Amino acid sequence: MDRLLSWELDVEGICSLCGTHQESRNHLFFEYAFLAEVWRAALLRLRVYNAPTSWESVIDWLSAFSGDRQHKVVVLQIWQGCLYEIWKERNSRFHLGTTVPPSKICGGVICIARSKAVALKNSERKLGTDLVSFWSVA
Ligand SMILES: [Zn+2]
Repeated sequence: MDRLLSWELDVEGICSLCGTHQESRNHLFFEYAFLAEVWRAALLRLRVYNAPTSWESVIDWLSAFSGDRQHKVVVLQIWQGCLYEIWKERNSRFHLGTTVPPSKICGGVICIARSKAVALKNSERKLGTDLVSFWSVA
């Protein structure tokens, strides 16, 4: 909504989820506690306990991530999955009036990451085999 406002479109710009704040990228993904919980819960599955809590800090954190390649790919896939699932939840609430609990959204994020691992494995890439092994114990 903040982008639509910056383009001078005729919208209120109020968050469609809480109805009390300006809807921005940072508000939607981090300030709105319900959806920020999805990000934190998904990272807890990876035993990451110090999850950054703003858009800019996540980008910096991902850029500087110093784990091995497999772990970095998993974290990036979790980030992508969170963006997709949170945006999908926002649109479902806005257009359909339905609500899904954070634990179920987090489950969808993990499912996406596992599916990507299987797809990579099926394309006979070593990284796919490594990622499938990772998810078999995570
Ligand atoms: Zn809100």
